[in-house]
Amino acid sequence: MNSIVEASNLKKYYRKTHALDGVSLRLEPGHILGLIGPNGAGKTTLLRSLTGLLRVDGELDVLGHDPWRNRVKVMRDVAFIADTATLPSWARVDQLFTYLEKLHPNFSRAQAETFLARTSVDPKRRIKTLSKGMVVQAHLAMIMAIDAKLLILDEPTLGLDLLFRKTFYTNLLNEYFDGERTIVISTHQVEEIEHILTDVIFLDRGKVVLDTNTESLGDHYASVTVKPEALERARALRPLQEQTLMGHSVFLYEDTPAEKLKQLGEVRRPGLADIFVAKMQENRS
Ligand code: ADP
Repeated sequence: MNSIVEASNLKKYYRKTHALDGVSLRLEPGHILGLIGPNGAGKTTLLRSLTGLLRVDGELDVLGHDPWRNRVKVMRDVAFIADTATLPSWARVDQLFTYLEKLHPNFSRAQAETFLARTSVDPKRRIKTLSKGMVVQAHLAMIMAIDAKLLILDEPTLGLDLLFRKTFYTNLLNEYFDGERTIVISTHQVEEIEHILTDVIFLDRGKVVLDTNTESLGDHYASVTVKPEALERARALRPLQEQTLMGHSVFLYEDTPAEKLKQLGEVRRPGLADIFVAKMQENRS
């Protein structure tokens, strides 16, 4: 099967910054990729290059085309949506639907209206008069109605409370994702998207510091609550990170044999957020 995205050694240098510093990635159909990194990591630069908005060095293929040279062709099957905060506050919801109809050939107004009808959002209301939860619903209605092979969401839940962020992602997974579509979500908040991702890339200072599928994370990473008498042995195994949490020593390991770790204390699978923090620290040390 053809890849949705194939990128090799992408570089974008500004005078003071290496926004992309040799980024390679491959994305297959039906995958949900989380592009995770702190502010300034290069996430938006990468997404803009995928959508042909920015010219970068290196090799890049999106749906069989070079997005910079063939932006129109690529964008027929790609939807690029930024955060809810970018919805114009003065616009009515139905006006935004009209705007999207013009912008996106694959936007189905009927579908957006059907989705909205299930919510309490009146399409005649202006964005600025809606509650935050309603803005999320309106935003989702727009996203759900775009029939795209590749959906790119850049920090889609920026500025939303935890509850709304969760609603957003749950709806996206249940209502939009059909196993064939491919989704890229950039965020610096790991926890609430962890459960919906099939793949994850950590980006820091323009470099990929981790690229893996989420299923295999448990094979590579382990968190151990180390018994006091095993501390020296635990350190000798060179953990990625050592922390003290409520009086307990918790070590995070990468690619360390499970039999060795079992002897140190209680082993569990770490969350993506724990791995993220440790990999960022490693990259910056
Ligand atoms: P992120 O989306 O992860 O927050 P960005 O891709 O927006 O990161 O930015 C990556 C880095 O590139 C940042 O240090 C940013 O300041 C820099 N950058 C982005 N665009 C420009 C530009 N047009 N001119 C100069 N520097 C830029």
